[in-house]
Amino acid sequence: MLCSTPAGLYSPAGDFHIDPVRAVDRALITHGHSDHARSGHRKVMATQQTLDIMGLRYAGNFAGETQAADLGKATEINGVTVSFYPAGHVLGSAQIVVEKDGMRIVASGDYKRRADPTCTGFEPVSCDVFITEATFALPVFRHPDSRDEIAKLLKSVEQFPERSHLVGAYALGKAQRVIRMLRDAGYDRTIYIHGALEKLCHYYKSQGIDLGPLSPATTETGSVQDFAGAVVIAPPSAFLDRWARRFPDPVSCFASGWMRIRQRARQQGIELPLILSDHCDWDELTGTITELGPSQVWVTHGREEALVRWCELNDYAARPLHLVGYEDEGD
Ligand SMILES: [Zn+2]
Repeated sequence: MLCSTPAGLYSPAGDFHIDPVRAVDRALITHGHSDHARSGHRKVMATQQTLDIMGLRYAGNFAGETQAADLGKATEINGVTVSFYPAGHVLGSAQIVVEKDGMRIVASGDYKRRADPTCTGFEPVSCDVFITEATFALPVFRHPDSRDEIAKLLKSVEQFPERSHLVGAYALGKAQRVIRMLRDAGYDRTIYIHGALEKLCHYYKSQGIDLGPLSPATTETGSVQDFAGAVVIAPPSAFLDRWARRFPDPVSCFASGWMRIRQRARQQGIELPLILSDHCDWDELTGTITELGPSQVWVTHGREEALVRWCELNDYAARPLHLVGYEDEGD
């Protein structure tokens, strides 16, 4: 029903791929992060929000034909039943449920279990085979309470009113989540955003996610001092640009699950690491498998071995899928 191929997960019975890394005839796509949602497929089926996001990122022309999947509604593809359920990863993200002859496989894509005010929460779907990601599948990865990380940022803003806070956050999902969580924590000042975030922030707003006052983080028109005490959000790549050197004595921050590794934060010159992930941590991965109780677990992109070993120790048949080409942009 599903097997791994060089192009990605493939259903021979249904003749479709899930999140293929190469152009294929028919692709079912879990979410808009670039390594999952590539352009050039003939037919693409995804949630309307994922299709919209792909349209924004690829300037409209990303597939021959598109089909919007309504959450929870089954569709037949060549005798295989497919349905999409929320994954809680980013806006529009979905797990893809594939069924045939009484066998149900859930390809969860990327997912997380904790609350995120910018997307619909993960919905557990009981299944025979659960395909799970393994981005943070090591016991060392235990994400702290997300609100405490946002509180750390706000405390630093208060402590250093003359410095700007430059927050690295992935353009799809993380940036909007950081902004929304700042609002929930009571921060109502203008938040400055890098140009690369504008379209997606605008789209989130159009989907009813209130991000509060945002303004472009350009220094051409105003004085550099306008950014003293400000919060500026930018994709991590912008930190390497001359763009980042415009701000007054910035506190460099990075919102990512990888910030759990202090050495990594230090190497990247991050003064204020914020451990904020759009993926499950170790406890959430193992907790999800325990909750679903599948007869088999297939483990993909990330640290497959540790999670496969945990499954074996806990009497779940498990195997790594060794899919290649996923380096998620939204960790
Ligand atoms: Zn992702």
